[in-house]
Amino acid sequence: MLYQPHMTERLSPDRAGLARACALLRAGKLVAFGTETVYGLGADATNDHAVASVFVAKGRPHFNPLIAHYPDAEAAFAHVRATDMARQLADAFWPGPLTLVLRRADACPISLLASAGLDTQAVRVPAHADTLALLRAVGQPIAGPSANRSGQVSPTSAAHVLAELSGRIAGVLESGPCEVGVESTVLDISGDHPVLLRAGGITLEAIEAVIGPVAHTAPAAGVLRSPGLLASHYAPTLPVRLTATEMRADEALLAFGPPLPGAGLVFQLSAAQNLAEAAARLFAGLRWLDTQGQTRGLVRIAAMAVPSYGLGRAINDRLHRAAAPRA
Ligand code: AMP
Ligand code: MG
Repeated sequence: MLYQPHMTERLSPDRAGLARACALLRAGKLVAFGTETVYGLGADATNDHAVASVFVAKGRPHFNPLIAHYPDAEAAFAHVRATDMARQLADAFWPGPLTLVLRRADACPISLLASAGLDTQAVRVPAHADTLALLRAVGQPIAGPSANRSGQVSPTSAAHVLAELSGRIAGVLESGPCEVGVESTVLDISGDHPVLLRAGGITLEAIEAVIGPVAHTAPAAGVLRSPGLLASHYAPTLPVRLTATEMRADEALLAFGPPLPGAGLVFQLSAAQNLAEAAARLFAGLRWLDTQGQTRGLVRIAAMAVPSYGLGRAINDRLHRAAAPRA
């Protein structure tokens, strides 16, 4: 089989660590790396074997397409059919948490497995100095799905990555906690009209300010279009109860603002109800409540309401999936 157990190397984002990460990626090995959104599970996107081993390490269904990461827009647009709208969006938001889905270029070197059989490819330039240095050094697009086992919460620190993938990947570049903390916004601009496939770090409002109205599919309708929208995609082990207004005795609390009365185990997303702070802390909070809650014999996570505008849209999208019944 593709996967051989081995020690996962912990690499510092200094010259030696970056060189080692680069060498491993060029050799077709998997190296997780920090970005401004979440940790990505890096693989040379042009190497079929490396891309296949991503699915093996994640235990992910093979049909999920992967985002290819680039050091700049020029490199990205060499592999897809860039449109005027793509260039406008890249100028406005790259480097940054916006993924563009575009038609593959005729001579696109990216593994077809990374496109999961679609004629489109998702591309992004991440806003993280270490990652950009690594991408420049490798000189190939790097596929980088979130560095977690399939169906688990996305990792926002190297420790999260190691908790799930230690021994299953060659290395992790320890580039600190993730500033944004939710995944990139995924925007499909391969057709006649732009479609939001996943809410994320760049708000819909900001995108519409640049290109005008964007269609967005409801999560249920989006499933066919973007497999990553599978209902229970970001699930902790404990079930999640949404928009809680009172505590039950057997629950842990994911708080947004003043905690509900009677809560024992509390993770505060943002005491000041700041959406950016809440987004950055969301996955770490779900993980922490999940493990601590189980240790204390709690059976559920109650999540307080978060307003649905700006980054709150992405937070609620993740919370709804965490709360969806398991497939
Ligand atoms: P992740 O790799 O965990 O950051 O998730 C990537 C997201 O991008 C998933 O929701 C994928 O389904 C979506 N995606 C990637 N490539 C494409 C594509 N070519 N068409 C549509 N959705 C895509
Ligand atoms: Mg993911």
